[in-house]
Amino acid sequence: MRANDKAAARLKELGIELRQGISLADNTSLGIGGTTDEILLRQYETIPQVMRLLADEQIPYRFLGGGTNVLVADGELAWVVLHLPSARPGVRVEGNAAYVDASADLGGMVTFCAKNDLGGMEGLIGVPGSVGGALRMNAGAYGTQIGPHVREVELYRAASGKIETLSGAEIRFDYRHTSFAPDDVMLRVKLELPSKPFKDILAGIRVCNEKRRVSQPLNQKSAGCIFKNPPGGSAGRMIDELGLKGHRVGDAMVSDRHANFFVNVANASCSDMLKLIDDVRERVRVAYGMELENEVIFWRN
Ligand SMILES: Cc1cc2nc3c(=O)[nH]c(=O)nc-3n(C[C@H](O)[C@H](O)[C@H](O)COP(=O)(O)OP(=O)(O)OC[C@H]3O[C@@H](n4cnc5c(N)ncnc54)[C@H](O)[C@@H]3O)c2cc1C
Repeated sequence: MRANDKAAARLKELGIELRQGISLADNTSLGIGGTTDEILLRQYETIPQVMRLLADEQIPYRFLGGGTNVLVADGELAWVVLHLPSARPGVRVEGNAAYVDASADLGGMVTFCAKNDLGGMEGLIGVPGSVGGALRMNAGAYGTQIGPHVREVELYRAASGKIETLSGAEIRFDYRHTSFAPDDVMLRVKLELPSKPFKDILAGIRVCNEKRRVSQPLNQKSAGCIFKNPPGGSAGRMIDELGLKGHRVGDAMVSDRHANFFVNVANASCSDMLKLIDDVRERVRVAYGMELENEVIFWRN
């Protein structure tokens, strides 16, 4: 789907940038996905107008953060993407509070806070993507999740058509799942972080970086873990026990480093990756009687 002429003209009037014919393979960490138009939301106050325009013109959309947790369909896509371009650093610190733009890079935010002697987020250092994506997914690693630090979120709510502020207590953060509505757009967050000397935070960051370096295929195209861990279990361990590391469909492969990371070794298509996901899910179901749920988000056409 492309923004039609009327929508393109209206976006121009509003001073909003429209990038036509972008490849989502070039804008996602898996390197898979077809082409569409991208609307860059630089001024948050214009978001309600953009949303009204898309509704009036019946143009469906998806919201793209850093593109590190999505598997996108191939070909000409049936929807446009909305994106908040990032301005660095996108973080301001006041006492124990960090005010962060959703477009900010998550790792950049963790180091910025560390330099201001605010810790508690060391585990998130190697999670790629944006702060908005981390909020949506309740990103977490090595015992840390973003949710418990959230005090306020400013967001566009499709239900009201307005920009609103929710307190942390109004939002439920579960394992890789949150209570935001699917069409809410997170814009800014206030986090409360514990004071900690920079050198101690840095030591924690180094430990987490090293754990990732030895266990994950960081130089290959992936979306992190494909499946959520079942309660009390490990998807990666089950896949590994079935001897599936290195198992391939076309150019989509179960990483030989981490069995829950599926990598695009060259030019995998979305259908290769989907076949691999379904095949592995089925083998785990047969062997363990457990139905693995996707952690990666599939954007169908
Ligand atoms: C090498 C690697 C390692 C990873 N390790 C981890 C890990 O340890 N822990 C972990 O939790 N994840 C991990 N991930 C997955 C991924 O990095 C996280 O889920 C990340 O938080 C996604 O952020 P993103 O900005 O890339 O979101 P995207 O992939 O762009 O989007 C993910 C979802 O969030 C929505 N979204 C994004 N921004 C916004 C916004 N501003 N408002 C509303 N919705 C939004 C999108 O619409 C989509 O539904 C890893 C990924 C890779 C590639």
